[in-house]
Amino acid sequence: MKKVAVIGGGPAGMTAAIFAARSNCRVTLFEKQKKLGSKIYVTGNGTCNITNLNCSSGHYNSADTTFPGIVLNEFSLKDTISFFESIGLTLAEKRDGRMYPASFQAVSVADVLEEELNRLNVDVRLHRRVDSVFYNKNGIKLVTAGKEEDTFDSVIVSAGGPASPDLGGSGRGADLALKLSHKVLPYFPSILPINIIEKQLHRLEGIKWDCALSVFVNGIFFKKSEGELLFAKFGISGPAAIDISRYVNDAVLKKSDVNIFIDFFPGIDHKLLLNKIRISSAGGKRTVEQTLNSILKKRIPRYFLNEIQIEPEKIFSEISSEDVERLVSRLKNEKITPGEPRDYKDAATAAGGVDVRFINPHTMESTLKKNIYFAGEMIDVDGDCGGYNLQFCWSSGAIAGRSQKG
Ligand SMILES: Cc1cc2nc3c(=O)[nH]c(=O)nc-3n(C[C@H](O)[C@H](O)[C@H](O)COP(=O)(O)OP(=O)(O)OC[C@H]3O[C@@H](n4cnc5c(N)ncnc54)[C@H](O)[C@@H]3O)c2cc1C
Repeated sequence: MKKVAVIGGGPAGMTAAIFAARSNCRVTLFEKQKKLGSKIYVTGNGTCNITNLNCSSGHYNSADTTFPGIVLNEFSLKDTISFFESIGLTLAEKRDGRMYPASFQAVSVADVLEEELNRLNVDVRLHRRVDSVFYNKNGIKLVTAGKEEDTFDSVIVSAGGPASPDLGGSGRGADLALKLSHKVLPYFPSILPINIIEKQLHRLEGIKWDCALSVFVNGIFFKKSEGELLFAKFGISGPAAIDISRYVNDAVLKKSDVNIFIDFFPGIDHKLLLNKIRISSAGGKRTVEQTLNSILKKRIPRYFLNEIQIEPEKIFSEISSEDVERLVSRLKNEKITPGEPRDYKDAATAAGGVDVRFINPHTMESTLKKNIYFAGEMIDVDGDCGGYNLQFCWSSGAIAGRSQKG
């Protein structure tokens, strides 16, 4: 019987181990933590956004843009739904194509995966950190931090990336890949809040407001998001900010000139907003602040009035039409500057990773080292927020596992 080792018991590694065991291999799963799938429990705020009905390669980034599409074709969304049904988990859509376990509890996902690993007699070794992987005359030898040694015919490396270190995130997988002669594109934090340089914006801390955000890199439009924005003491958070964070961080780290423009009224154009403001001024009788307080959450008007230096107590009819124009322009197009990316502890995922140009997307086998396979987030593929990252774990894990065929 073919002996297969899986390094890392996250979603990708658990799936890989299941598919390898289903392919009649003797599988050993090494996990450095005390339990399997630590990140699964916190995904989707404890509900686990397993995948997305809109899954397509357009929702992924990689140095080779064709790679994610091939992987998703090899093991598709439909295959994923069937896989989970085969182990007793039905999925349900909540909104925007986002799929969750029908229980809306992440623990249900971790449970069915563990049950299947047990049923297939996968040898799960917890608290075992694999520190080295090298070829010997009998196959591929793994050595753990506790100096345990074992030799396998094939090894699947699915050790994740550095995001969320409290949940096992680390660069150890990348170290193993480097030692196996693979190139690793620098990791950086993705899907997280964004630091904003302008300190005056930090005064809006705690306010939630539906906005549209546009990212400009070196003066050229790059990416847009729309949804709830949460102002924080360091900058911006909430879905609208998190959705663009990957692109912002990438550009900031490349030392590009990056700006974000906030539209506080994405549903209406400049002219309509002007009209809305005039109506709120009650024929110009109210103060500017009173006027704006009718259409914005309190504290937001003060921020803008400070910025454009209009006295909040001034009667609306007494301010010049140029000032009103300036105010509307800022509300539609407030320019802010992102700072350095926030720490990995705030990040759901890491972008970058093992260079896909040396991985066969049909099998997930290394094209440099025979019988070495990769799966999951440690590879240079990162997806949008919305279940796309877990989908890549299920797909790449399943492909790596079933390619073992004992
Ligand atoms: C708060 C949060 C919410 C998220 N929500 C979602 C969501 O709703 N939908 C979605 O699609 N994605 C979500 N994600 C992202 C998703 O969880 C990750 O993309 C996914 O867990 C990556 O899986 P993985 O198996 O590749 O790596 P990991 O889950 O990181 O697992 C890798 C495992 O390998 C182990 N390991 C590392 N090195 C070694 C070694 N040398 N020896 C042995 N073991 C090792 C680690 O301890 C870890 O358990 C979220 C992430 C976070 C942090």
